[in-house]
Amino acid sequence: MRKLILIKYASEIFLKGLNRNKFEKKLKENIKNVLKGMTYEFFIDQNRWFVYGEDLEELAAKIRRVFGIKEICIVNEVDAEMQFIKKAALELYNKVRPVDFKIETNRANKAFQHNSMETSREVGGYILENSEEAKVNVVNPHCKILVEIRKKAYVYTDANKIEAVGGMPYGMNGSTMLMLSGGIDSPVAGYMMARRGVELSCVYYHSHPYTSERAKEKVMDLAKILSGYTGKLKLYVIPFTEIQMEIMEKCREDELTIIMRRFMMHVACNLSKKHGIDSVTTGESIGQVASQTMEGLIVSSDAADRPVFRPLIAFDKTDIMDISREIGAYETSILPYEDCCTIFTPKHPKTKPRLKEILASESSLEVDALIERAVEGVEIYDF
Ligand code: ATP
Ligand code: MG
Repeated sequence: MRKLILIKYASEIFLKGLNRNKFEKKLKENIKNVLKGMTYEFFIDQNRWFVYGEDLEELAAKIRRVFGIKEICIVNEVDAEMQFIKKAALELYNKVRPVDFKIETNRANKAFQHNSMETSREVGGYILENSEEAKVNVVNPHCKILVEIRKKAYVYTDANKIEAVGGMPYGMNGSTMLMLSGGIDSPVAGYMMARRGVELSCVYYHSHPYTSERAKEKVMDLAKILSGYTGKLKLYVIPFTEIQMEIMEKCREDELTIIMRRFMMHVACNLSKKHGIDSVTTGESIGQVASQTMEGLIVSSDAADRPVFRPLIAFDKTDIMDISREIGAYETSILPYEDCCTIFTPKHPKTKPRLKEILASESSLEVDALIERAVEGVEIYDF
């Protein structure tokens, strides 16, 4: 008897009809990517996916982070014969010692001589015979012992299933340029898009010397954390000081933030166009700060020539913080290095900017040339 990892993928993938093959192919590819460098064997037994390897724990920890996988279970593999199935089930029962239990059988191998009901009854009976305290509860058991009969049989309990990240296979749903700052919100926004299968690239606006190297390194660390989920990841670092100085010099103080945010959009779109990226994503959430009013979001979106996604738009800060902790970004996000926005923030930013007025203010700037120069100064990092 050997132990294996059984991979269960999100039910949404089942619903993809003709596209299902594509989704499965991508998912398999992504699993292979995260397991690169490890010794393991991947195989399929009548539609079920298994991984076998020396270090199951390490393999499981990596596989559970692959988007599109709903849960993974450690299973015992035995020959598809009743006597072996019974023994494996009893062994598991004795390990868990639940208050009560139920056997659930799924038989894909129709050559197996007992149907699902009969198998469940026989295996359950065997446990009852061999354990004094064993009690069956078919309605609401403390522990389910699951039996899958394929070419081989796989026996496991729901007590040792491992929740995975869910979502859709990464790379199946287009691409987006994430505006990644050093804060809490944008890494979470990026994670959520990636989790739905959208391929990520990141852009960071760096205002040297007003923002330190440490601030940039922090963003690089966050990109690295995201790359733990996505596999590869590119970070574009854009020199932003010239744009900010120009805005400070030529525009009204209360319009600095909104004009700066429009430049961020322009540059993100320009980069996206260059690199064939479909959309832009930010970590904004309605009402969170002065620049994230409905009016502010409308005026900044106007600068974009492709869709702008804001997956956190209706999230409370506390919920965003929970996800940030879950994905392992929080401790890095709260490091105290300043970002460009805090240095160039006006005392009383406009909370209800009007597009017409903002466009008029911008007319004193050489918008296109500024964008061009910023994009030319890009530094690219690969994770
Ligand atoms: P975060 O926690 O993600 O920094 P925030 O609440 O601090 O967000 P803002 O500073 O107003 O909010 O920024 C809103 C969004 O704009 C961020 O979520 C991010 O997507 C983007 N952004 C802000 N500053 C930068 C930057 N220096 N480089 C890249 N993107 C940025
Ligand atoms: Mg920020």
